[in-house]
Amino acid sequence: EPALSAAMGRIAPSQTTAMTDRATQLREEGRDIISLSVGEPDFATPPHVVEAMKAALDAGQTKYTPVGGTSAMKRAAALHFERDLGIAASPADVTISAGGKQAIFHALLATINPGDEVVIPAPWWVSYPEIVRFAGGTVVPLPTRPEDGFRFSADALEAAITSQTRWLLLNSPGNPTGAGFTAEDLLAVAEVLDRHPRVLVMSDDIYAPLTYTGAPHATLAALRPDLADRVLTVSGVSKSHAMTGLRIGVATGPTWLIRAMEKLQSHSSGNPCSISQAGAVAAFEGPQEFLADWRKTFRRRRDLVVGRVNAIPGLSTPVPQGAFYCFIDAAPLIGGNLADDGSLALHLLEHGVAVVAASAFGGRYCDLYGFRISFAASEAQLTEAMNRIEAGVAAL
Ligand code: PLP
Repeated sequence: EPALSAAMGRIAPSQTTAMTDRATQLREEGRDIISLSVGEPDFATPPHVVEAMKAALDAGQTKYTPVGGTSAMKRAAALHFERDLGIAASPADVTISAGGKQAIFHALLATINPGDEVVIPAPWWVSYPEIVRFAGGTVVPLPTRPEDGFRFSADALEAAITSQTRWLLLNSPGNPTGAGFTAEDLLAVAEVLDRHPRVLVMSDDIYAPLTYTGAPHATLAALRPDLADRVLTVSGVSKSHAMTGLRIGVATGPTWLIRAMEKLQSHSSGNPCSISQAGAVAAFEGPQEFLADWRKTFRRRRDLVVGRVNAIPGLSTPVPQGAFYCFIDAAPLIGGNLADDGSLALHLLEHGVAVVAASAFGGRYCDLYGFRISFAASEAQLTEAMNRIEAGVAAL
């Protein structure tokens, strides 16, 4: 494909969407496949959000909005940052995009020069390294281990930072591990950052409302407001309000960066969808009580899956603290007739469950071989999926 740009040559397609597409295809061929590969809640979008979008349609809100979002949307996002994350954000320093993904894409594209290094704790969310490479940056993996709760030490971070480091990417609770940072962890990170004033930090808190520990969510910009001039906090409604298809993400950070992201957005997608913005305003400003029920449901499902996984010889997982993923170590099963965890994922697909191989999340940088499942599915589906995984592993 000689017509493609050099930047395209540096990236690979998303393996999570690839697996989900393959599962959909098999299902269309009549196969019975339970898909645990996709990262979205199975709950319906809350009715008050749907009503707000219908009202916006009826009111003719179908035209361009300001590039970075309507002022109502920016105020709602500022409320979310303040109330849910403890970050004092002014609406002027907030921007709205087509999903958290676009905010991350624009922030990295706006700041990375060729040769800049981006430190990413691994296992990582699939899109981080691809976006960094697309922007011309170099990915510096910061390996973590399940036995450390997938947390890295301040010393390891210090060792990963060089004079070329532009960004540190943080994601808590994390995809794919469900691990979260404590305030203590983040304060230790901040001490390292104090020694490296050039390093920007992205804090991807998109799963913050979905935690199961009962402890309050900890985030860098709230703990160390003096770092606000170099911390970009990304959040959204996709995961917390079951609005994945509506494509709204929110970000707050230093004014120069927020304006740069909007400049880029003015030439890419233009504005985030007007109707979706109306829905996201209702999501942030409306009742949040349903979240307590969702958390309870997710927690029950998590416990079901963790119990089943750890009872299957060859599989193990720590207990995820947030989000809705279980990152499963299957290293004892790899080798012999399974060359890698990609083959294991395909084997499990043959047994009727779609999962995503750990390699998609940079597992090899941590010597972790296995797969991620989403537990955003009914208990009946999860039970059946676990039966199939058990049978698939037994058939190896
Ligand atoms: N950040 C993380 C860690 C995610 O897992 C996801 C979605 O999978 C996103 C960001 C992007 O979410 P959105 O659907 O809002 O673009």
